Amino acid sequence: MAWYPRAVRLELQPESSEQPAIRPTQLIMHSIVAPWDEHRLYAYWKNSTSLESHFGLDFDGSIGQYLSTTTRADANASANRRPDGTGAISIETASNTKASDPWTDEQVTELIALGVWAHQEHGVPLRICQTAADGGFGYHSLHAAWSTSGTACPGPARIAQFRETVFPEIVAKARKPVPAPAAPTRPVVSLAHILAAQRRDPGLPQGGTTYKAEGLVVEEALYRAGLLAKRWVDGSLGSLTRPAVSEWQERCGYRGRQPGQPADGYFGKDSLTRLGKAYGFTVKD
Ligand SMILES: [Zn+2]
Repeated sequence: MAWYPRAVRLELQPESSEQPAIRPTQLIMHSIVAPWDEHRLYAYWKNSTSLESHFGLDFDGSIGQYLSTTTRADANASANRRPDGTGAISIETASNTKASDPWTDEQVTELIALGVWAHQEHGVPLRICQTAADGGFGYHSLHAAWSTSGTACPGPARIAQFRETVFPEIVAKARKPVPAPAAPTRPVVSLAHILAAQRRDPGLPQGGTTYKAEGLVVEEALYRAGLLAKRWVDGSLGSLTRPAVSEWQERCGYRGRQPGQPADGYFGKDSLTRLGKAYGFTVKD
């Protein structure tokens, strides 16, 4: 079942339960040749078994949906359902009784939005249907096989709008790349702050912090490097953090000043920068 989120749901029965399923590959636009809103169309189709569309669109842009777009609707003859199970989504649009008026701006906006949805939801290809069975976008009179007795629907003014505005805008909007989710902000750690905390925190009461937020970033990295127990990731660069830093320095190739002495356990620019590169933070002075 597929119901368009912008539409009012006015489900037709028994059509919704009884008509066969389709895999929609086309969207075909019509004019109803009556100034009817989506509720008036529902009332008309409710007691008639023929020629309903999936959607009805009023002049003001309000839109009703009468059948799931994965259920066959009867508006477009051979396009409704093909032997391979593909078919057409159809939309009726309010018009004057001669179908000579252009779509209103509101109707144009909604037709474009529906077209983008049909592409995104059902993969309707971004082209004008080249044949009666070809996937894409069209209007009722585009292919003779889409009507049983010939039609001018949706009228010349609207056919021009389809070609000049509606279809090109569907393509433009559907192709616009979806913005990538914002990259998580990379933390920035100051070497001067970390060194100050390394000197001060061990003398504070247990767990005391000087630059807690930056200390947490560094300790989390030491934890992920396998050098510090998780329970000491508290933002306090205390006496247990220093041996972890020393081990990191040795991984970086540093040693104590005297042969056999461990690295001193106070970050330098290089060792902190390399920790940041490995575990996702940036270092400033
Ligand atoms: Zn039509």
